[in-house]
Amino acid sequence: MRAIDATRIYFDAAADQLDLSPSMRQLLLTAKREVQVQIPIERDSGELSTFIGYRVQHNDARGPLKGGLRYHPQVDLNEVRALAALMTWKTAVVNIPYGGAKGGVAIDPKQCSTRELERVTRRFVDAIHDMFGPDVDIPAPDMGTTADVMAWIMNQYGKYHGFAPACVTGKPVDYHGIPGREEATGRGVGALTLKLLGRLGRPIPGTRIAIQGFGNVGTHAAKYLHDAECRLVAVGDATAAFHRAEGLDVLELIRYAREHNGQLSGFTGGDEITGKELLAADCDVLIPAALGGVLTTANAPAVRASIIVEAANEPIEPAADTIFDERGIMVLPDILANAGGVTASWFEWVQNRQHYQWGINRVRQELDRILSEAFEQVWQLSQSRHVPLRTAAYMLGVGRVARATVLGGVV
Ligand code: NAD
Repeated sequence: MRAIDATRIYFDAAADQLDLSPSMRQLLLTAKREVQVQIPIERDSGELSTFIGYRVQHNDARGPLKGGLRYHPQVDLNEVRALAALMTWKTAVVNIPYGGAKGGVAIDPKQCSTRELERVTRRFVDAIHDMFGPDVDIPAPDMGTTADVMAWIMNQYGKYHGFAPACVTGKPVDYHGIPGREEATGRGVGALTLKLLGRLGRPIPGTRIAIQGFGNVGTHAAKYLHDAECRLVAVGDATAAFHRAEGLDVLELIRYAREHNGQLSGFTGGDEITGKELLAADCDVLIPAALGGVLTTANAPAVRASIIVEAANEPIEPAADTIFDERGIMVLPDILANAGGVTASWFEWVQNRQHYQWGINRVRQELDRILSEAFEQVWQLSQSRHVPLRTAAYMLGVGRVARATVLGGVV
């Protein structure tokens, strides 16, 4: 199923609960603006390559558009559309003053040199600089893009519009970024997992965790949960997966990955398992933190966790989501679970605009406060309306956007 169709199913479930009119549904589902641009660059070899770039600005009823920029060979308009809508609901769930957008370039960054990526990024900014900016639309990193890419974006944007660090977030700390932004998504995943365990009356120390994906989000979530005395019993990335019932050494895993180009292949501190076995590991909490669409009707029946925390965007296909619901497996949905990243992006934007720096403790405190409030609101709605956490999160997000749309006046 296409990501856009999955998002639509969840939207409809919430819209039914909210009793939204067909015309409001149509308005909320339609993107405000969609742009596709040509990005020609000269390769290091001197040859010409042309890439396609997209920016979908979904909805700005609650504030400037906000959303990441993805560099991946499979990026297409449908995927960007779905992810842009997801951002609209996500910023609304955590109640930060943004709308939702997403961008992407159909390119394999692993096949490009750093200089080629810089040229692609600067040409992309050349093509869309008049449609983003601090009060309009603020890009951020996503799959395949890094803090360095954000630095190039800010620099290139500045050539047209002057110094404007708030035109993009996720920048390097030494180039107008903030400490705490990089860890924020994983930290949020960890903190929200503990909140859910607390609400369910489960003890936290000794909770068995399995994580798919050991990149930015996976490592920081693992570290946070390790510090809370949870046990990481299984972990895997694109190169290998490992299991250890007594708990893997998280700090050793992080050190190993750092020394091996971010990869886990060759790690010797656990039994090697397959990626399929990782998703079916005997654990309490499964955290998919890699790709979308990894939990399907084919593998959902084998999942043994009683809680799934969606660190990645849309890692569960809707039909598998139904299976989990029927099996009593609780799912903490992506639009809440991984919202720590965009929340910290907001902190970066606020500090850039004020030319002021908060320090890491304040960033962490504010992040924990905002995610806690959002979690409690989603939890209460789920309890009072007897709906899954996902439907409750969509109800909260979609409801806020619908109200802002009406208050602002549609026509
Ligand atoms: P990353 O590129 O740093 O790490 C991705 C990890 O997934 C790597 O360890 C990679 O090896 C692994 N992986 C890739 N293919 C795999 C496969 N087939 N099986 C198992 N593992 C595989 O990315 P990230 O920033 O950690 O993001 C992870 C997910 O979280 C993505 O879906 C992203 O969209 C989502 N997300 C990230 C952020 C953020 O702030 N980084 C915010 C919100 C959502």
